[in-house]
Amino acid sequence: MLLILHPDIDPQGREYQETWRYLQNLPGIEVRRHQVLGEIQSLTEIYLLGDTHALEASQIESLPAVERVVRISEAYRILGRHSDQQRQSGFRYNGVEFSQDSFHVFAGLCAVDTAEHVELMLQALQANGQQCTRMGAYKPRTNPYSFQGHGAQCLPWVFELAGKYGIRVIAMEVTHESHIEEIDAALEAAGRPTGVILQIGTRNIQNFELLKVIGRQNTYPALLKRGFGISLDESLNAAEYLASEGNSRVIFCLRGMKSEFGHPHRNLVDFAQVPVLKRLTRMPVCIDPSHSVGTRDVAPDGILDLAHATAQGVIAGANMVLVDFHPRPERALVDGPQALLLDELPRYLADIELARETYLKRQAIWAG
Ligand code: PEP
Ligand code: MN
Repeated sequence: MLLILHPDIDPQGREYQETWRYLQNLPGIEVRRHQVLGEIQSLTEIYLLGDTHALEASQIESLPAVERVVRISEAYRILGRHSDQQRQSGFRYNGVEFSQDSFHVFAGLCAVDTAEHVELMLQALQANGQQCTRMGAYKPRTNPYSFQGHGAQCLPWVFELAGKYGIRVIAMEVTHESHIEEIDAALEAAGRPTGVILQIGTRNIQNFELLKVIGRQNTYPALLKRGFGISLDESLNAAEYLASEGNSRVIFCLRGMKSEFGHPHRNLVDFAQVPVLKRLTRMPVCIDPSHSVGTRDVAPDGILDLAHATAQGVIAGANMVLVDFHPRPERALVDGPQALLLDELPRYLADIELARETYLKRQAIWAG
């Protein structure tokens, strides 16, 4: 059972103390507190675990600190929707809203290589009105001899350039807890000119210790990429690891499934599951057409497969697009063959805008 307390309740106040005491005395029930930090208000949720069936919801709701009671199913306790449409979803980070209603494109380099390429990329984003990007500094590679990313060494100039071009949020993958410390130190040293969302790659989705570390810190939200070879339920449980440790600012990213049936695409595109994720959870849903499709192949209609896949995800209600671009893909050190070109950015964004408008119109049709 989930108890949503009145917003901004004072944990030292009489109402809270009285409620807490009552709950602590319920036999056979474990009481856990979860703080939802917002930029405007902070919410406290209390989870009652154990045999809660015998509890009377109306009685719990009458406790002085409690605003609402929601009966929850076992799975995804914190991030799940639990058939409750009123429950707050999403968050604000560095002035940017992320929710199941918001929409952002995170176009950028799969891997940071040169300062010149980063600058060309960010310039193009600013010229096209974008405030978010993706920049990989730590790259988990299949082959140990492949380029592994510049790591901490590139962070000072990446963050400085991001600030210069008005980038508010960078999605950056981390593969070890030391990377979070390095990012934090570099951002602090640069005067926090931009923000970072910690990306957890598909290969690390069940790296539970990494998930716990990212869950325990509250400075940075997380972007969790679906596991390419595990069930959706297993991936959602991985997301819940982050929340159960305290960080519920989690965006879930579909990025295709490893399967021969996806051929000739790199992965089998799974964007039909955007609405499923919205129904099962309260997380904003991202799609990654680059790592799903993995090629620059063009269909006979003149549209890249990658743009087709993007449109499919956006028209189904995706809240975010994570996509690889590169000023000179032939020189990219990682994933050049799937990168879009800078002069394709305006067309790509116009195509996305059309799909997003169509999604909103579709929503209006079905509401009526
Ligand atoms: C990436 O986004 O750079 C990446 C490595 O993706 P994934 O973890 O989905 O393969
Ligand atoms: Mn990549």
